[in-house]
Amino acid sequence: MSRASEPAVDDVLQTPLQFLKGVGPRKAADFKRAGLVVVEDLLFRFPLRYEDRSRMQPIIALRPGQMAAVAGEVLSCHLQQTRRANFRLFTALVQDASGQIQVVWPNQAFLKDVIRPHQRVVLFGKVELWGSRGLQITDPEFEIVEGATHAEPANADAGAAEPLHTGRIVPVFERTGSVTPNMQRRFVWQALSQLPDDMYDPVPNEILAAQKWPSRRAALQATHFPPNDTPVDALNAFDTPAQRRLVFEDFFVFQTGLALRRHENAQVRKALVPQVNDDIRAAARAVLPFKLTPGQRDALAEIVADMQRAWPMQRLLQGDVGAGKTIVAVLAAIVAMENGFQVAFMAPTEILAEQHYRTVMKWLDGTRYRVRLLTGRVTAGTRKELLPAIARGEINLLIGTHALVQEHVVFKALSLVIIDEQHRFGVVQRGTLAAKGGNPDVLVMTATPIPRTLALTECGDMDVSIIRGLPPGRKPIRTVVKPDSRRDEVYALIRQEVAQGRQAYVIYPLVEESEKVDLRAATAMSEELTHVFPEFRVALLHGRMKGDEKDTVMRAFAAGDLHVLVATSVVEVGVDVPNATVMVVEHAERFGLSQLHQLRGRIGRGSHDSTCVLVYQAPWSDDAHERLKAMASSSDGFVIAEKDLQIRGPGDFFGTRQSGLPQLRTGDLTRDADLLEFAFNEARARVEQGRLGPALEHYVRAVWQRQFGLITVG
Ligand code: ADP
Ligand code: MG
Repeated sequence: MSRASEPAVDDVLQTPLQFLKGVGPRKAADFKRAGLVVVEDLLFRFPLRYEDRSRMQPIIALRPGQMAAVAGEVLSCHLQQTRRANFRLFTALVQDASGQIQVVWPNQAFLKDVIRPHQRVVLFGKVELWGSRGLQITDPEFEIVEGATHAEPANADAGAAEPLHTGRIVPVFERTGSVTPNMQRRFVWQALSQLPDDMYDPVPNEILAAQKWPSRRAALQATHFPPNDTPVDALNAFDTPAQRRLVFEDFFVFQTGLALRRHENAQVRKALVPQVNDDIRAAARAVLPFKLTPGQRDALAEIVADMQRAWPMQRLLQGDVGAGKTIVAVLAAIVAMENGFQVAFMAPTEILAEQHYRTVMKWLDGTRYRVRLLTGRVTAGTRKELLPAIARGEINLLIGTHALVQEHVVFKALSLVIIDEQHRFGVVQRGTLAAKGGNPDVLVMTATPIPRTLALTECGDMDVSIIRGLPPGRKPIRTVVKPDSRRDEVYALIRQEVAQGRQAYVIYPLVEESEKVDLRAATAMSEELTHVFPEFRVALLHGRMKGDEKDTVMRAFAAGDLHVLVATSVVEVGVDVPNATVMVVEHAERFGLSQLHQLRGRIGRGSHDSTCVLVYQAPWSDDAHERLKAMASSSDGFVIAEKDLQIRGPGDFFGTRQSGLPQLRTGDLTRDADLLEFAFNEARARVEQGRLGPALEHYVRAVWQRQFGLITVG
């Protein structure tokens, strides 16, 4: 296989789409809106599906109702005026060796300048019975394979007599604005015809050979215009060698970028490298409030091993809700603090930062570590005293919200940053941390499990520790799904549990678009519950309340002074009240699966049986139905995360639409999980063993530069 040594031949792929013949400013703008700017974008956009229009049928064998492809000669044609004003039919009589058939195009008068007698045409369309006139083909796609007039648009720019829209397996593209599927098919054909044969191919030769995959050019050709012997089912499952090769290429280039970044991170030296000795181990043991689970012990060992290395840790700590990630992080913090270094511990919300603060204070009670809380609610006076103390190194552990990184907090000896993450901490955001100086170790904790495939794409440059299993003594949670109409059963359950001394959450969705309405609904619910349960104390908690009001309510609930807490989803992450045994989620159909799992994780934390009730209101979508079914059938966060990815797709998994995951333009994290794993392993191995080669490295860096702009690899 010949292969160019320099990736520069890629220029053709980087040609803006308006340079294709037939793409004017309007179509270029439509393409751009769909994210297609250069030729590469067009060629790496897979068709929606494929249709087999390759098997020509003899006209005599056509049956009404079928979709059929026919090749023949135009015998005659006419433009007919119908009785309706302005409605004209263009008809043609087409003949093949077996017979003749009438072909009708409603309302396409311009065809009179395109289709002429004696032309050879191929047609693809629906066969219909048309009264006494017999069979006809109505409004088919067509191509003129011989004798085209100049006005004929189909093959004009391809310059070939080869049919694109019929007579073959045809790619069907999504319509993009004014660009019809047929136009796009022609543009793709044109772009393919301009590709050089010796295009640079980022997929290494050994991989192509071992997988029996085609070259890059051949793969692009076969993906858009498959040879007629390609199984159409395989094409539509995106499972042909050509398609898989392109998916692999996308994954591989992206994973190589991540691997380069990880490799470069390992060249960085951190200013502070903690040591571990028996005294430090004893100090950690002295704090430990319970016996660690094996999963926690393994994760901690991996973290502490990283911390002792010369280069900064970049580790993701995964575990299901309630798996006990906090204590693992705090033990890691103790290692740093025992070395005289500082630790920053960041939570996604103030409530959580405050809760972490209380938990940590309880665990570290009686130790000499100085722990402080820094959130937006800290008074100016306290802040004025706190900031210099941090700068002097007198504070060992600083707990706060994510704003800690953005704020101008200066540390004297920051060696570890712990991020208790709500849902997202993408590749792109991670850059900000480096700005803190000294290259501290970074430990990111996820609130709920992330499917492995998504972790590989979002965090493939990080190392991952997973805490498997939950601490002992957890009671399984019963999950029931109920329509809104059976609300009294829900109230009966709350009454019964509260009567036994337990507590209940009632959660309301709060989406930004309808925040006011939702807030009103939550407020109304809290009032209704006050009437339904006059004997109980009911309170409302929502994100619009002032910090200290929120805190008062949360504290009261945690202390058992409140029976029912009506809340918007602020309790979603991390809040720990073991006496709460009922979680009612209102409008459950509006929550994402991972979010529901998070909410359910708020109960089942004590020694009592717990129930989660998902209350839905019709109409609910199929997706919502799937989600609630998944919730009722599994309590395993890893299983739920996979399901969530399947239902929502990667762009929505993190709650916001991240349209630009470039490595996903051809790939699908569920369908192509095996290819992603393969790409991840190949990329890491090649980078770590220095076998990447200059051309591929150059290529990958150029792609990253293009796709992430300022953020460079490393
Ligand atoms: P998450 O992983 O969701 O952040 P937490 O760290 O909040 O979970 O832990 C959940 C609860 O389990 C806390 O109350 C914590 O004190 C408790 N816990 C954690 N590890 C253990 C353990 N090994 N044995 C008993 N309880 C534990
Ligand atoms: Mg937590």
